[in-house]
Amino acid sequence: MKKIGILGSTGSIGTQTLQVVDQQKDIQVTALAAGSNIRLLEEQIRRYHPSVVCVWDEAKARDLKTRVADLSVRVTWGMEGLIETATEPRSEILVTAVVGMIGIRPTIAAMEAGKDIALANKETLVTAGHLIMPLARKQGVRILPVDSEHSAIFQCLNGEPRRGVSRILLTASGGPFRGWTRKQLAGVRLEDALKHPNWSMGRKITIDSSTMVNKGLEVMEARWLFQVSMDQVQVVVQPQSVIHSMVEFADGAVMAQLGTPDMKLPIQYALYYPERRVLSGERLDFAKLGSITFENPDMEVFRGLKLAYDAGRRGGSLPTVYNAANEYGVGRFLNREISYLTIVEMIEAAMEQHQVTENPSVEQILEAERETCEFIESRWQIAEHSGGSTSVRTHCTDS
Ligand code: NDP
Ligand code: MG
Repeated sequence: MKKIGILGSTGSIGTQTLQVVDQQKDIQVTALAAGSNIRLLEEQIRRYHPSVVCVWDEAKARDLKTRVADLSVRVTWGMEGLIETATEPRSEILVTAVVGMIGIRPTIAAMEAGKDIALANKETLVTAGHLIMPLARKQGVRILPVDSEHSAIFQCLNGEPRRGVSRILLTASGGPFRGWTRKQLAGVRLEDALKHPNWSMGRKITIDSSTMVNKGLEVMEARWLFQVSMDQVQVVVQPQSVIHSMVEFADGAVMAQLGTPDMKLPIQYALYYPERRVLSGERLDFAKLGSITFENPDMEVFRGLKLAYDAGRRGGSLPTVYNAANEYGVGRFLNREISYLTIVEMIEAAMEQHQVTENPSVEQILEAERETCEFIESRWQIAEHSGGSTSVRTHCTDS
């Protein structure tokens, strides 16, 4: 039996990971963590029998504890609970499927405890990649990508010496507003941005995909995972989401991984790497597909992508500022407190005023996050939406 823990088990990636567990039957779930959805977490506890669970929200955790008093599961909360869940002694792999850089500390704790990481939580690598990648080498643990593009690249690189890689071609669907002008984007409502043409995902990443900030985060994620420079990662818009990414080698050969859009493939590949298991589901029908098209991303309209290149090239604490401003802005947009274009305006303004710290420690990363939130709050007087709950939990909103 393979033993896994899942942070973010009630979310899009978390529930699809549990679908893989259901299909494969040789995975034991040892630990689960969620933000606040205790109804679903209770169902998961009764079905998978983890020994420890965490609910971020303390009041909800106490409620859950009462509900599962008949079981021998330990219920924890907050960052301490998240770390305890991430380091459950029997787990071999930790699936990091929480949203946002709140994942940094539990991910590091799991690696220090010798766990391999099946990484969906890209914000952790974007902000702390310079700490995570050397730690993985030191601890002899693997970072197995779950993000579909990075899984594709990982699959294309199988057996290839790294020195032969010339470029990574990171594909993007372009999102629901591909081909739009900035004027059109100004009128985007929450409902419009939550409709992704090809993938069904959590709310935060769906907004990120629509702004192309998700692709920007992915360029930085790829840079750390595959040890290339920012300039070796090129974004190629491929609207059908059939090619999940490609690698160009020194001799001009290009390898690509294709498939129907189904996150269970990269999740399962990460859990069983290097083995390939049967995964039921739709197969590509090329005749039906007809054509696959390509275009360049429009970085003038989708400024969030250009800013990601700026942040990644400069490095240090700037990617943290990029990410933190985005998490903050998306949380506010999801609460209907700011307009659509304000998200990227916040990123740009926060990056402009930041004094970069080189090689930031975890504490300095969290400090840069706090400063970014404070800066945005001082610059934009945001009226709290009546009854609005926090849509994206960050160290700023939850401390
Ligand atoms: P969801 O919003 O669907 O799920 C997030 C999960 O994290 C939920 O279980 C949520 O709990 C939990 N959570 C949030 N905050 C905390 C916290 N502070 N402590 C504990 N648990 C918490 O997100 P996704 O599954 O879409 O995305 C997860 C990560 O994977 C993101 O980093 C995203 O970028 C990445 N990713 C997602 C893809 C997708 O297809 N969805 C594709 C590629 C990458 P609750 O439900 O109770 O709020
Ligand atoms: Mg992706």
